[in-house]
Amino acid sequence: MLDLTAMRSIRSADADTGVVHADAGATVEDAWRAMLPRGWWLPVAPGTMRPTLGGAVAMNVHGKNHFAAGGFGEHVLALEVATTDGRVVEVAPGHPDFRAFTGGMGLLGLVTGVRLKMKRVHSGRLAVEGVECPSLGGMIADMERRAPDADYLVGWVDAFHPAGRGILHAARNLGPGEDPDAAGSFGNGVQELPPRIAGVVPRALASAALGPFASPAGMRWMNRVRYGISWLRGAHAFRDAHVRFTFLLDFVPGWERLYDPGGFIQHQVFVPKARAAELLLSNLARCRAAGIVPWLGVLKKHRDCPSLLAHALDGYSLALDFPVTAANREGLWRLCAEMDEAVADAGGRCYFAKDLTARPEFVARCYPGIPAFREAKRRWDSAGVLTSDLAVRLRIV
Ligand SMILES: Cc1cc2nc3c(=O)[nH]c(=O)nc-3n(C[C@H](O)[C@H](O)[C@H](O)COP(=O)(O)OP(=O)(O)OC[C@H]3O[C@@H](n4cnc5c(N)ncnc54)[C@H](O)[C@@H]3O)c2cc1C
Repeated sequence: MLDLTAMRSIRSADADTGVVHADAGATVEDAWRAMLPRGWWLPVAPGTMRPTLGGAVAMNVHGKNHFAAGGFGEHVLALEVATTDGRVVEVAPGHPDFRAFTGGMGLLGLVTGVRLKMKRVHSGRLAVEGVECPSLGGMIADMERRAPDADYLVGWVDAFHPAGRGILHAARNLGPGEDPDAAGSFGNGVQELPPRIAGVVPRALASAALGPFASPAGMRWMNRVRYGISWLRGAHAFRDAHVRFTFLLDFVPGWERLYDPGGFIQHQVFVPKARAAELLLSNLARCRAAGIVPWLGVLKKHRDCPSLLAHALDGYSLALDFPVTAANREGLWRLCAEMDEAVADAGGRCYFAKDLTARPEFVARCYPGIPAFREAKRRWDSAGVLTSDLAVRLRIV
């Protein structure tokens, strides 16, 4: 196990060009803290700011803007890589193996430095629109309609509901002059949630307050209430800070304790656009039939990705958070295998960053780049120094 978190310095951050050059152990948070006050935001950000830049490259992470901006690797200008034979080399987008390094899960070499092009923003706020969608198919149709004008699209899905109803949030960057308080919008006061919700409840207690609902019945009710509130409100527009919009979960300390004592797994699949609504809905029906319903569902829109081990494709992903218990574990793994089968039949994929349940036969079917990746592995690490439990379980190298 190699821990790079001590290699965390931002080597340089250029406010004119928006290029950040950092140690691979610097985090997504380090990058926005260095650049947002100067008008630059992450081109691609996962749902938490804790990952390192090396980890973001290694899984080629996606954000709520994948359909428009692609994966993290598409904004990398150069990687500094320590090889298993003791060299330090630069791997840039023109390099024949750049596509293998982005999303290569650290199996080819150790990324020690990242040069990343940030995105210019004219305000620290986004214009957001929230709208309830009575069905998953309706949400997908709405995302298709909004995609040309939106920078970010994300849908919360109520997996307990037969139609997969939910709430869609579409956001766009503000143009020059659109935010009268642009200069003040980049600071922490605007970006971060206050320590108390509504000035009263300490944020640290928010997850404890959800504790009584931590059961299938409680979550069914919570999902219903959440949708109901949105339905009563109707479509609504508001402005939200980049950090809050992107990393909301980071502001609820201990949210994962909700799944104690067994924890949870996230099962995220990517399905081609033409089959997305039908297939994702039928997978949700499988969950309900198995009596194992995810407590949270998140829908995102994606585009094709140039990486050799690309998880994203032109279509949609649905990430489902399942509680794991001693009683449901076996059935849950079986359920995930059934969903994976349907996904592979439709030409879809899973996502290694989230995977705990996939089988090698499924992965071989849905990752056509694996043979070429193995050749890259032979070029960079013929002795097989770098490996992982996941790579072994899924027979990737
Ligand atoms: C709450 C939460 C929300 C998330 N949301 C999203 C999301 O919206 N979109 C998304 O795409 N992902 C998301 N993720 C997944 C996360 O972004 C990835 O798993 C990311 O790779 C984690 O980075 P890390 O630095 O913690 O790496 P680790 O978890 O430590 O490692 C992940 C992989 O990267 C490799 N690696 C790490 N650093 C290096 C390096 N320096 N050189 C070479 N290889 C390296 C490791 O070997 C390993 O294979 C989320 C995760 C959580 C917990």
